[in-house]
Amino acid sequence: MGMKLIFLGAPGAGKGTQAEILSAKLSIPTISTGNILRAAIQEGTETGLLAKSYMDAGKLVPDDVIIGIISQRLEKPDCVNGFILDGVPRTIAQAEALDRAGVCFDHVVSIEISDEKIEARMEGRRVCSKCGAPYHIIAKPTKREGVCDSCGGPVVQRDDDKPETVRGRLKVYHDQTEPLKDYYKAKGILRAVDDQPTIEGTALAIQEALGLE
Ligand code: AMP
Repeated sequence: MGMKLIFLGAPGAGKGTQAEILSAKLSIPTISTGNILRAAIQEGTETGLLAKSYMDAGKLVPDDVIIGIISQRLEKPDCVNGFILDGVPRTIAQAEALDRAGVCFDHVVSIEISDEKIEARMEGRRVCSKCGAPYHIIAKPTKREGVCDSCGGPVVQRDDDKPETVRGRLKVYHDQTEPLKDYYKAKGILRAVDDQPTIEGTALAIQEALGLE
């Protein structure tokens, strides 16, 4: 079934993990601007160079850069039957740009979780530096330590997951991204889902909120 979805939530709320589960279930791609930017940094592209200083500081990359990236990505043929946006839009300006581009969403899932839980959880978060697959040393460990289950790439801690940066990123989330909840609530498409004790529990709650269960 085709669906156009946005996953909203604080950094570390589990957007990437939940998007991966739902992507597989619905056979639609997940588009993560964070993963696209990290790949650009690794490739040493101009966009990567520009983005790196913002990302390292836990700040948002400028809207025009993000809008360029996301418009290009949404034109690819794998998006025709729907997609999940993970980590984008992150500002009202980005949401308005998507509206202007004529992109209509079926649902916006907001994963609700406290800052305290996020700070505790971020310590164990890991990511594949090759394909971007998300892991957690307790909640979702790799089968072989340090090796990605999907692509065999090296699994590492992100530089911006260090505690000092996490606090700054939470502030950025509350200041700049959380207003999107009201933006999409006004359109009648916001589905708030409380974080559950397990990944599977949250996945189920999301599917219920979307009328899939
Ligand atoms: P993420 O992997 O989604 O946590 O993103 C990591 C970092 O990439 C963020 O802290 C921002 O610096 C940057 N970034 C990713 N997506 C966006 C976006 N939609 N708008 C602005 N910056 C972004």
